[in-house]
Amino acid sequence: MRIASVLLPMPLPEAFDYAEPEGMALQVGDQVAAPLGPRLIRGVVSALRDGTGGNRPLKPIDHRIDDPPLPATTLAFVEWAARYAAEGPGQPLAMALRGLRAPRPKPERVVVATGASPARMTPARERVLAAATAQALPPPRLAEAAGVSSGVIKGLVDEGCLAIEEREAERSRPVLDASPHHDRLNPGQAAAAAALVARLDAGGFSATLLDGVTGSGKTEVYLEAAAHALHREPEAQVLILLPEIALTQAVIARVADRFGAAPGEWHSAVAPPRRRILWEEVAAGRTRIVVGARSALFLPFRKLALIVVDEEHDSSFKQEEGFIYQGRDLAVARAHLEGCSVLLASATPSLETLWNARQNRYGWLRLAARHGAATLPDVSLVDLRETPPERDCWLSPPLVAAMAQTLAKGEQTLLFLNRRGYAPVVLCKACGERLTAPDTDSWLVEHRYTGRLVCHLTGFSMPKPDRCPHCGAKDSLISIGPGVERVEEEARSRFPDARIAVFSSDTVTSGQSARELVEAMERGEIDILVATQAAAKGHNFPGLTLVGVVDADLGLRGGDLRAGERTFQLLAQAGGRAGRADRPGRVLMQTWAPEHPVMQALAAGDRDGFVETEMELRQLSGLPPFGRLAAVVLSGPDAAQLEAFAREMAAAAPNAEGVEIFGPADAPLSLIRGRRRKRFLVRADRTVDLSAYMAAWRARVKPRGALRVTIDIDPYSFL
Ligand code: ADP
Repeated sequence: MRIASVLLPMPLPEAFDYAEPEGMALQVGDQVAAPLGPRLIRGVVSALRDGTGGNRPLKPIDHRIDDPPLPATTLAFVEWAARYAAEGPGQPLAMALRGLRAPRPKPERVVVATGASPARMTPARERVLAAATAQALPPPRLAEAAGVSSGVIKGLVDEGCLAIEEREAERSRPVLDASPHHDRLNPGQAAAAAALVARLDAGGFSATLLDGVTGSGKTEVYLEAAAHALHREPEAQVLILLPEIALTQAVIARVADRFGAAPGEWHSAVAPPRRRILWEEVAAGRTRIVVGARSALFLPFRKLALIVVDEEHDSSFKQEEGFIYQGRDLAVARAHLEGCSVLLASATPSLETLWNARQNRYGWLRLAARHGAATLPDVSLVDLRETPPERDCWLSPPLVAAMAQTLAKGEQTLLFLNRRGYAPVVLCKACGERLTAPDTDSWLVEHRYTGRLVCHLTGFSMPKPDRCPHCGAKDSLISIGPGVERVEEEARSRFPDARIAVFSSDTVTSGQSARELVEAMERGEIDILVATQAAAKGHNFPGLTLVGVVDADLGLRGGDLRAGERTFQLLAQAGGRAGRADRPGRVLMQTWAPEHPVMQALAAGDRDGFVETEMELRQLSGLPPFGRLAAVVLSGPDAAQLEAFAREMAAAAPNAEGVEIFGPADAPLSLIRGRRRKRFLVRADRTVDLSAYMAAWRARVKPRGALRVTIDIDPYSFL
């Protein structure tokens, strides 16, 4: 008899053993239905061995599921990710199977090109044939895509040039044109692309940092490398990861343009039936380019040749909930397991990546200038102590003057403020109380478009009351501080004729709406865009010549480990949107602390100097990249029980050389959804296997009842 170890997408510490029924001939990676208690659960066979299973008979596997098996490297990646995060394999496995949650969509009637040419060709027929070749679409959508009447399509069907088939519209099999476009690249780009091509040709694992100023053409370079990877090996697949859905849209359009076919799209806003199709097409090796958010790393690629992590410094690659992981680091790990290349691209690389490049662990390619006639923008600081905004306003006189000049020239302005909603704090002027979410110690943010108060941490929201919930005073609530909605209000009152839009995760909720807003901006249909970080990175708006940073000091408050680094990256990226085409750009940063080293480095455009100082500070304190960090968050509904458990946990910490433990302390957010929170912070030397240490620690305690232990390797949030 054979025993099958089956990984289940559940919070279990390891795989469970089952008996393989006679004749099932299982293989590692097969998906099976396995009994767990009274239920059948979808799982993946992770190992097979001969044996009988000791004194108790093993339960048999119920049946094999008719879905493609998980490729060996995907399985190895799931197990690696679990070890790294000091978790059981259930959560990363659930991520790898996420595409299979929805049933297959029902087939519909779609039009496909047969390859036959019509006896008589017309421009309309030509358009229809091109559109049908690019993608199988239902007849009305094909007519719309080609801008023709249904009669044209019917004529071509009658003539045998088009055929109607039953299939899922999304499951079109576009043919990629991966031929090289070397001639398009400028000399610096061509040299970088050639270096990447050489690394691809050398085969095996390699990691490279593509370090190029904003607008230098990093996307052009990595698409060229992707084309090479796809061209040299007919089964090769490429994964391009981006930190925001809005950015995936822009890159999807560029991929479609470059390769003549749309890539697979994977992120949280893609509907489940489409995700299922993509999962199957990736597993079958038919989808060869995927553009997606971090969770695309868990797709069942058959033959990955290249992973690109664009904007690699971006903290959105860190997943903070459920399975906690840093997507950039996992991308490098996946490339290692696949034996393929990984490319990390950024104008402001993370200190971790720069350090790896300095140590020659990663290749390092630099693009020092913008493409073509574009030059880097001129950055100046607006000292708010000298030229403050008027009362209840947020835009200083120099910024308002610059906006007026920009408008007069018919150019565009981006006002950057990394704060959603109207006002971050609502306060009662009668009793002084700040409104917080129930059972949570985070402030409610006023959203005026919806008339609601929203907790950004838990998603709780309520209509704005007309009385203070604490003292009952009527009309006493006042809004403190600005969010993007309030800045938009001010911009509108100052420039009533300007076309103004807001770009934040509240106004842009889908790939479609992101695309529409980005395209409107590209076409120059917006004069002033007020945006959070959702729009401040990656994009390329040719008419944008002024970037105003409303509150440059925002990210420095609170001051965690990466506050300086993150502020530098975010503001350099936001500023980098200005002057991307032939007209020069400028950036005005409003600050109360112009002497701060981050502000000085931004104004001088001195990234390398900033990095140098920051590296020294990190080295002195043994912080990443010179040491490792992990956080432990304990939570539970009862304060006394949590306190006792925190003491128990502290006593259970294994002794190890090179490991320091700080805490337990109340978390800065000490109450979320009625659960109290305590934290430990663990610092270790680089030589310590911190994941193994944390797993050993966790194994020594048993949280009872509603108590929870969450481990965060390499934390980005310290709240
Ligand atoms: P980055 O990713 O470094 O910010 P992009 O790849 O987005 O830069 O390039 C910036 C702009 O310059 C884009 O509009 C892009 O199409 C254009 N561009 C860059 N390189 C070239 C090139 N070699 N030929 C034509 N246009 C280019």
